Amino acid sequence: MLNIGCHLSAAKGYEHMGRDALKIGANTFAFFTRNPRGGKSKALDTDDVQRLLEIASANDFGKLVAHAPYTLNPCSKDKKVRDFAYLAMSEDMERMEHTPGNYYNFHPGSHVGQGAEAGIEMIAELLNQILKPEQTTTVLLETMAGKGSEVGGSFEELAAIIDKVELKDKIGVCMDTCHVSDAGYDIINDLDGVLDEFDRVVGLEYLKAMHINDSLNPAGARKDRHAKIGEGHLGTETIVNVITHPKLKHLPFILETPNELEGYAAEISMLREAAADK
Ligand code: FE
Ligand code: FE
Ligand code: ZN
Repeated sequence: MLNIGCHLSAAKGYEHMGRDALKIGANTFAFFTRNPRGGKSKALDTDDVQRLLEIASANDFGKLVAHAPYTLNPCSKDKKVRDFAYLAMSEDMERMEHTPGNYYNFHPGSHVGQGAEAGIEMIAELLNQILKPEQTTTVLLETMAGKGSEVGGSFEELAAIIDKVELKDKIGVCMDTCHVSDAGYDIINDLDGVLDEFDRVVGLEYLKAMHINDSLNPAGARKDRHAKIGEGHLGTETIVNVITHPKLKHLPFILETPNELEGYAAEISMLREAAADK
């Protein structure tokens, strides 16, 4: 059974996200652990979380893929920004343990002129501070489009971070189809080749989740502008190839397309049908 869902608003709580997921035919979803622009997180309502866990287990949800705030930059030049990354992430690790065994995805960060190597060093250092042997959450580095001074636009950079992380069973990668294409990986014509390269450089065992987005821009554009499925340069066929690929089809697939719930419901049912026909 395909595990597919989309990014949902956490504003009305955890149970509400579970109900929204059911409404749109999703059996996984993503959500921000806190205000995506940063700031303090609301106290967790453990009864509300419990009700989500019941919905998820009654409906065979796949792993959830929480998303760290965009403002989190572990390799900023500014120590205050790095300190926020540490605080937010360690607090999020505690919160995630209320929904045990799921994924927490983050953008590795932007090195803002300090160089990718320095960035990689700081990102790994943060991960080595926050990851604990007893945690059940796996932290995922997102593949980035490589715009500006983003770290993680190449498989080599992701591999270099993972290489420095001590607790390798707590770390993985979330591949974003818009981002990898924007970064120059040709998933339109050579998905097999891209996956082989990922396997050689990072290791497919680290690939834990996928963000499935079309891209407003052609491969290599390094822009990171998501499009609805079928309305960008990737096209529906590429996305269907991704979700039905023998090396990928077991992963949770998260849509981050510019949609409201209705639009997501339509994309999910269209992709479920297309995958069933393959
Ligand atoms: Fe992201
Ligand atoms: Fe993404
Ligand atoms: Zn993006």
